[in-house]
Amino acid sequence: MPAPRIVVLAGGVGGAKFVRGLRQHCRTVWPDGQGGTTALITVVVNTGDDLWLAGLRITPDLDSLLYALAGVNDTARGWGRAGESERVSGELTAYGVGWPWFTLGDLDLGTHIARTALLKQGLPLSAVVERLSARWPLGVRLVPATDDEVETHVLVHEDGEARELHFEEWWVRTRAKLAAERFVQAGAESAQPAPAVAPALAAADVVLLAPSNPVVSIGTILGVPGLRDALLATPAPIIGVSPIIGGSAVRGMADACLKAIGVATSADAVGRHYGARSSGGLLDGWLVDRSDAAVVEGLTADGIPSRAVPLWMHDDTASAAIAAEALALAER
Ligand code: GDP
Ligand code: CA
Repeated sequence: MPAPRIVVLAGGVGGAKFVRGLRQHCRTVWPDGQGGTTALITVVVNTGDDLWLAGLRITPDLDSLLYALAGVNDTARGWGRAGESERVSGELTAYGVGWPWFTLGDLDLGTHIARTALLKQGLPLSAVVERLSARWPLGVRLVPATDDEVETHVLVHEDGEARELHFEEWWVRTRAKLAAERFVQAGAESAQPAPAVAPALAAADVVLLAPSNPVVSIGTILGVPGLRDALLATPAPIIGVSPIIGGSAVRGMADACLKAIGVATSADAVGRHYGARSSGGLLDGWLVDRSDAAVVEGLTADGIPSRAVPLWMHDDTASAAIAAEALALAER
C-alpha cells in the first residue's frame, strides 16, 4: 500500500496520544528516510474549548496537540508544557485578572501571546496554527475545525440559578460536578469549517476518529456547520476508536458529557451514537477494547464492523498498535 493520506478528528490530550502513535506507526511503515514519514497526516482539531482570557486567545486542544507532538508537553501532569513555571499567572491573580483556578504557565503564556499577536495582525486561526507549528518538526498538519470563534457553553443550575458557563469553567472550576443540562456551540450560526478541512477530507484515503471525548471534542467538531457533510462526502472509510473502555471514560470526565446527551458510557453506546455509515451515521469501522469484546458481534450485525483490540494508550508504542489496527480495519 502506498503512503496514505490520513485525516484524524481529535480533541486534546486523548487525541494527542493517539496522533503520536499514528505518527510513529507511519514512520515505521512509510519512512521518508529522514526519520519522518511519507504518509500525510492532517489532524482536524476541536476548537470548542477556545476562549478569550486575560486579553489572550487560548486554544487548549490545539496546544495539547502542538506540545505533545513537539515533545515539550508535561507528561506527568498530563497537560501544559514541561518545565513550566507560574510567575506571570501569580501576577495576573494579584491584579484580579483572569481565572485564579485556570492556571496559565509562563511558557504556555508565550504561546498565547504569540497566537494573539498573529490573530491581531489579521491572520485566520488556521494560518496562526501553521505559523506556531512551524517551530517544531511535528510531522503532521494541525488544522482547527473552524477559524471562527465557536465556543462550547454548558447550561447548568448553580446555587438554584440557571447559568451558562464556558466549557472550561464547567470542566476546570466545577470539575464537571454541576449536571450539564445542555451543551451549546455559541457562535456556530455563522461559522464554517476552516478552508483546509473539506479538501483534506475529499483527498483522504482514510479518516480516523481519535479516542477523544465524543461530545465536547468530536461532537463539537461535527457541530461546525458544514463539517459533518464534508466528512460524509469523503470517499474514504471512516474508522473510530472508542474512548470508553469497560464502561469507564479511562481518564477525565467524559461520562458527565455523555450523560447530558443521553448516551451511556460504553463502547457500544458511543459506537451506536456515531452510527453506521451505511444508515446515515459516520462509521465504517469501530475499534473497542479487548474487555468490550462482547459488543463486537451486535455492532457488526447492526452495520458497524467492529473489532476488539487493546485500547489503552499507555505509551507511543501502545498507541501506534491501535493506529495500525484502525488502518487495518479501513483496509478490509
Ligand atoms: P481533551 O480534549 O484533553 O479532553 O482530550 P480528548 O477529548 O482528545 O480525549 C479525552 C478522552 O480520551 C477521555 O474522555 C477518554 O475517554 C479518552 N482516553 C484517554 N485515555 C485513553 C486511553 O488510554 N485509551 C482510550 N481508548 N481512550 C482514552
Ligand atoms: Ca478539550
